[in-house]
Amino acid sequence: MNIVLLGAPGAGKGTQGEILAGKLGVPKIATGDMLRTAVKAGTPLGKQAQAYMEQGELVPDEVILGIVEEKLASADAESGVIMDGFPRTIAQAVAIDELLSARGSRVHKVVNFAVPDGELLVRLLGRAVAEGRADETPETVRKRLEVDRKETEPLISYYQKQNVVKSIDATGTVDEVAVRVDEVIAVS
Ligand code: AMP
Repeated sequence: MNIVLLGAPGAGKGTQGEILAGKLGVPKIATGDMLRTAVKAGTPLGKQAQAYMEQGELVPDEVILGIVEEKLASADAESGVIMDGFPRTIAQAVAIDELLSARGSRVHKVVNFAVPDGELLVRLLGRAVAEGRADETPETVRKRLEVDRKETEPLISYYQKQNVVKSIDATGTVDEVAVRVDEVIAVS
């Protein structure tokens, strides 16, 4: 099953994606994690992505699609994938639909993580302190939320048209949210 986790930065997609990937035994495509690894390793991809990330901007679609395509082609992705932080633009959503359709598949479920703005800010700024992420200074956090609203929120209606998206209340404990995610995944 191919599952997309949608929601603003700080909404908990990474944590829940990890849990879900473990439960379902399918790989996670987390573009943010892949990019951070590339930046740390100083690869050409990392060099291309770094400036965008540090400013809270999106990395260009072509760059992202290149890494997603590669990951999707790996054998362990055959039984499905969990996409966390991807797609983030309509162009990326259209592209993944095409890639999956060429493999006789599709996006089966989309879970939209809803968290009030005030709480997102608290979570992101808290994470900045805990993890020292360069893209989680107050300015970039604000920028990332703005970019999310403009570029990524339109994906909710994109997936509503396909009738595959369900929103969940993503506040509360990790366990509470995991139960809500499971409910969405279990419903056919
Ligand atoms: P994340 O950890 O998913 O919040 O991603 C961190 C940063 O990586 C984002 O602010 C973007 O700069 C970049 N990024 C991650 N995924 C994507 C994507 N699907 N499209 C464009 N940029 C992305």
